[in-house]
Amino acid sequence: MDAASLSASPGAGAFPLWAAAALGAALLVAFALWWRQRAIGRRLQASVESLTTRLDEAEDHSLPGVLPRPRFDALLDEAVAACDRGERRLTLVFVNLDNLQSVNEAFGHGCGDVALQRAAEAMTTCVDDTAVVTRTGGDAFVMMVDADLAKARTLADALIARLGGAHGESSDPDLVCSIGLASYPQHGSRARIIGHASTAMRQVRLAGGGDYAVFDPAMSVDMKDQAELLRDLRQAVSLKQLELVYQPKIDARSLQITSAEALLRWHHPQRGLISPAIFIPLAERFGLIGPIGNWVIEDACRQAGLWRQSGLRMRVAINISAYQMRQDDLVDRLTAALAANGLSANRFTCEITESVAMEDTRVTHRTFDRMRKAGLHVSIDDFGVGQASLSYLRRLPAAELKIDASFVQDLATSADARAIVDAVVKVAHALHLRVVAEGVETERQRDLLVQLDCDELQGYLFARPMSAKALSLWAAEDDRPDQPTGFRPSLFRDTLPVDL
Ligand code: C2E
Ligand code: CA
Ligand code: CA
Repeated sequence: MDAASLSASPGAGAFPLWAAAALGAALLVAFALWWRQRAIGRRLQASVESLTTRLDEAEDHSLPGVLPRPRFDALLDEAVAACDRGERRLTLVFVNLDNLQSVNEAFGHGCGDVALQRAAEAMTTCVDDTAVVTRTGGDAFVMMVDADLAKARTLADALIARLGGAHGESSDPDLVCSIGLASYPQHGSRARIIGHASTAMRQVRLAGGGDYAVFDPAMSVDMKDQAELLRDLRQAVSLKQLELVYQPKIDARSLQITSAEALLRWHHPQRGLISPAIFIPLAERFGLIGPIGNWVIEDACRQAGLWRQSGLRMRVAINISAYQMRQDDLVDRLTAALAANGLSANRFTCEITESVAMEDTRVTHRTFDRMRKAGLHVSIDDFGVGQASLSYLRRLPAAELKIDASFVQDLATSADARAIVDAVVKVAHALHLRVVAEGVETERQRDLLVQLDCDELQGYLFARPMSAKALSLWAAEDDRPDQPTGFRPSLFRDTLPVDL
């Protein structure tokens, strides 16, 4: 109802004119007030809405370009609709920064924040401006890109390289990331697509990280499988399902056994023998490696003690995981186990992979220092696959380099592999390190390695990993004429351990 309709109402004639005028004026004032109020209300509402939108669109101040999740979800809805209309392509890229926590712990949160910024910048700038990024957890991000799988793969490779240190001369710690890819619609509905990209990421992470994987429906099954394995692995030590088998390393010239590397086996009651390549990364990831690693130390020292008592003069080597290298008590534990079995530290080798050894962090430095002081024999495993810096290598208390099996495999066919092995041997010798080639399977490889001046050889050509008992028997008989690898009588007859 408004003032005009009132003054025109049928009963207006009975009213004195002044009263009608006053009423009209009052109504006009009331209307004006109401109108103003409404305008203010609208403006207020509009500014609240715009504020909300702006807040929604606001970037995480510490991470420019990274959108809040609700905004990301809204844009994903739009992208899915556009994809359904055939107007664009859509791939979700789930990025986990696997070692952010370690960077925080080792270098402090300031350094972690810088690494995070660098990662965010890489993600928001590594594709055209259609890429949209949000953070789903402390060290996890998800991106959506207008790309098919092929383009997304190239993007994932570029991201891994950029985060992993291929960023010029920066002294910032390198980030290891695991990436999962899932394309819409082939890898899942709108509701599932982020979860599937995350599943693919987890698969990569379980396998050690630093790579990408495309979602596969089998992965969901695997995750369930892995949950069961984890449950069983928790009890593997107490149920005595673990065993160490030993694979000899052979002196390339004398063909004598120099040492035996302990390799872990899990006898699962239903699944049979499970490879450490499967359960060690799982144990690392889920915090089960501690008790397993301790068991390996105890059992390998016990066995080394028995071998020593029987006069067998060879070193025993164990593999040390990244987690163990970060434990303050690792070296104390090792020296205590060695002492308890009457062994000296320099007769015992710790194999540490190149990638773990190169973790230039305070904690690993401390462990290496303690290893040096304790006189342990340190070997750098899987050498050549990572990005070892020679100057850093010089500072490690290493006595041995193990050239990764991949180079040995390619020796016969690739001049590059030969050149790499040649260079590694020369540098290692200049640094007074012994060189072991692992994964030697053929006589041709053996001959080339001897020519290239490798000091020790290890591989199926000489011996597969075997039980401690089998190794004792085999070593006792290794002067048998039918011994195919031509070992020299090397072991038991000499009852005193001598320096190799
Ligand atoms: P690694 O330390 O590089 O051990 C060498 C792997 O290559 C072993 O596999 C060995 O059985 C295999 N191998 C030896 N010679 C040959 C050959 O001529 N040809 C081929 N194709 N393979 C050969 P395995 O025993 O399955 O161990 C896999 C990895 O699991 C090891 O790689 C090591 O990184 C890890 N691992 C094993 N035992 C332990 C352990 O007690 N603790 C930790 N932290 N890791 C372990
Ligand atoms: Ca090894
Ligand atoms: Ca190795």
